[in-house]
Amino acid sequence: MEEANNTFDVIVIGAGNGGLVAALTLQKKGKKVLLLEKGRVPGGFASSFKRGRFEFDASLHELCEYGTPENKGEVYYLFESLGLTDKITMIPIQETFSIYTLDTHEQYTMPVGKEAFLGQMEKYVPNSTASMLHFFDLCEEVKQALAYLNETKGHPDTNVLMEKFPNFMVVAPYSVQKVLEKIRMPIKAQEILTTYWSYLGSPAESLSFVHYASMIYSYITNAPVIPKNTSHEISLTLSEEFTNLGGKLEYLSPVKEILIENGSVHGVITEDNRRFLTKHIIADISPHEVYTKLIDQEKVPDKAKKFVSSRVLGARGLCVYLGLNKSMEELGLDRYSYFIYHTLNSNVEYKRMHNLYNGNLVATLQNNHEDTSIMCLTSLLFGDVFDQEVTEENYYEVKEKIAENMVRSFEEATHVNIHEAIEEIEIATPVTFARYTNHPDGVIYGYLAQGYDNLLPRIMNEPNEMYIKNLHFCGGFGSRLSGYSSAYLNGEQEALKTFGEMKNDTI
Ligand SMILES: Cc1cc2nc3c(=O)[nH]c(=O)nc-3n(C[C@H](O)[C@H](O)[C@H](O)COP(=O)(O)OP(=O)(O)OC[C@H]3O[C@@H](n4cnc5c(N)ncnc54)[C@H](O)[C@@H]3O)c2cc1C
Repeated sequence: MEEANNTFDVIVIGAGNGGLVAALTLQKKGKKVLLLEKGRVPGGFASSFKRGRFEFDASLHELCEYGTPENKGEVYYLFESLGLTDKITMIPIQETFSIYTLDTHEQYTMPVGKEAFLGQMEKYVPNSTASMLHFFDLCEEVKQALAYLNETKGHPDTNVLMEKFPNFMVVAPYSVQKVLEKIRMPIKAQEILTTYWSYLGSPAESLSFVHYASMIYSYITNAPVIPKNTSHEISLTLSEEFTNLGGKLEYLSPVKEILIENGSVHGVITEDNRRFLTKHIIADISPHEVYTKLIDQEKVPDKAKKFVSSRVLGARGLCVYLGLNKSMEELGLDRYSYFIYHTLNSNVEYKRMHNLYNGNLVATLQNNHEDTSIMCLTSLLFGDVFDQEVTEENYYEVKEKIAENMVRSFEEATHVNIHEAIEEIEIATPVTFARYTNHPDGVIYGYLAQGYDNLLPRIMNEPNEMYIKNLHFCGGFGSRLSGYSSAYLNGEQEALKTFGEMKNDTI
């Protein structure tokens, strides 16, 4: 009896975006699902917190691939199938991005919509239209080819790929920089177009064209959205749907061990020594954590150990959350997002971002109530500079210095004084993010996607990367890489694969 109560068709570890969607997808298919979360709320990074009269989104700046009821994106279709679209209010953001540079004193604002984007680029960079049109054609083909790869679950027919997507096959191995150079896009247009590089955590010379094209095209053609009541609203809705359907969601239940028998998943043990059995696990946490800490090392195949040591950790995050006692109008700011770099050369800026006080950041800004606003400044760090330079003794001093530098950077770039309007401030560092999600070194964008270890190879290789039978990974460390939409879509994908595998289960 005891055994039956503790046995599940699937156990999902971690209630982040990917884990929530995976759990709900399988519960909707009638499976008995246990979702174990170490924290006390759902969502992982997709959460919010309150300070004084302000509620801050912990992470979400923009959700892409959502769209509108008239122009549905992939995430819209997913949420519709899960019955969520009428339960969450999304607000479209009517701009693509604004960039300000500190050293070269440039400023560009790009609108949403292909025509508008093209027109604005031509104004900033005369004679860029032909190469931009070429770029859009490539983006469209990339979009369709990726849809085909998803349909065929990483086993495409190469003849179909060659016939239907010949340009995709040509650009697939190359970086954004290589392809934009090849289509003779003027340098300034390339620089403006690659503004979003920091969202994917790799500079133009090593960022996959396919990865970047699929993201930027979605932002340009379909306005990004944010939920009216922060990303916590989405996480809460997903978790409620799951439990309303009978799913078992246990908070404050960190998994301390994954049980393996004969090379296959057998169950888990939680920190408080509860034991749950299953033949299928979907982990919404990093393979680093799973293979090095949660599984008896003798049961971890050498290939899995090699896999983990070959992956490079991606960007660490530094966030400054500001509650301002002035509205955006009073401050003289009218954009939602401000990308601030020293220059527009992403390769140079990527190197700069191996420095604690690099001053590059993305700021998002919204009115709160009538007379207040909320601003979030996010800066990225690459490499291990944080671990090298920050100690227990200097931690608070360093994090305040970094925050001060970020506020100063924003003010210098926009010529707007915000520090005098600060009513509440909270600073999150890689230490905060590591404690919150257990991700190694507090990385916020999963594994670094560069060179040959990029979106496409990850999707194609994924079927070969299951080193323990029926142990799947989803979310930001999954094959679709980091980001809200990637994590949601990957959660569904891994759930459907798991559902398929269950057909082979013996009683
Ligand atoms: C500051 C910031 C800004 C961002 N901005 C954007 C943005 O604008 N747009 C965008 O698309 N993406 C953005 N991202 C990235 C995005 O938030 C992530 O890619 C996405 O949320 C990852 O989801 P996930 O499924 O991997 O779950 P995670 O959020 O990584 O959650 C993992 C969950 O697992 C739980 N867990 C860990 N270990 C255990 C264990 N042993 N047992 C049980 N539970 C465990 C954790 O508590 C957590 O709840 C941002 C991230 C950050 C931090």
